[in-house]
Amino acid sequence: MTDIREMMKDKKRIVIKIGSSSLQHAQTGDLDYTKLDVLVRELCDLRNQGKDVVLVTSGAIAVGRKAVTLQDEDKDNPIAVKQAYAAIGQARLMMTYQKIFAEYNQVAAQILMTKNTIVDNLNRFNARNTFAELFKLGVIPIVNENDTVATYEIEIGDNDTLSAIVASLIQADLLILLSDIDGLYTDDPRKNPDAEYIEVVEELTEELLEMGKASTGSESGTGGMNTKLQAAKIAGSMGVDMIIANSRDIKVIHRLLSGKKIGTLFLANPDENFDLPLYVQQMHRE
Ligand code: GLU
Repeated sequence: MTDIREMMKDKKRIVIKIGSSSLQHAQTGDLDYTKLDVLVRELCDLRNQGKDVVLVTSGAIAVGRKAVTLQDEDKDNPIAVKQAYAAIGQARLMMTYQKIFAEYNQVAAQILMTKNTIVDNLNRFNARNTFAELFKLGVIPIVNENDTVATYEIEIGDNDTLSAIVASLIQADLLILLSDIDGLYTDDPRKNPDAEYIEVVEELTEELLEMGKASTGSESGTGGMNTKLQAAKIAGSMGVDMIIANSRDIKVIHRLLSGKKIGTLFLANPDENFDLPLYVQQMHRE
């Protein structure tokens, strides 16, 4: 039998998600330029191989918070403060990405989404066409949630879910979630030394989904194991394979795509009854 990891070599359209905690120095919260540089180089190299590449990046709020120190943070309206940080940070983050992409002669674009982008038929249609056009142009779209306008009713909330939605929308072949964990374990490895590492998930059982709910996220991002498993459910139902891998070394991207057994691979189980817009509409953060 051919190794399923060998199949990764044939993936043509790939979405890569990186979380805030993977982009910042843990000690200071400032951007880790070395990591950003390696990330962009890896993405550009995939593009040079003729693949369609999308980057889903967090960091807007974290970068905005670092850029300004509000004298009097409005404690009564923490959402407005976060949204202001996002407005500042998103532009800064893009400026940084654009600079590095330019070094590799690669054009990058920005797409900011909310729940409505998927739920509303015309918005979804437009978004899909925009992605298609960008791929034709050889451009790498950089996606984030439109945090400055996305209030609770229309927010997706975390970028694990957002990246799975994007991968589904554009019918990607593979979604890679780069995170501060090695992959999926049978229990939290930081708390339970007997926790076993799972290399491939062929079926996302209720048991696994329940296990994810008990886990917690990292400090700067919003995604824990729960959001990653929900992402696997969305992507898998829509026919997209997904890998969770550690962002400690960003070069893991090309290793994964050359078939190396790194991270946890979730094999897609397409479900023709899965209705993406309906699922997104009914989604709520817990
Ligand atoms: N969209 C948020 C940001 O860019 C982050 C969401 C997440 O960490 O999952 O700051």
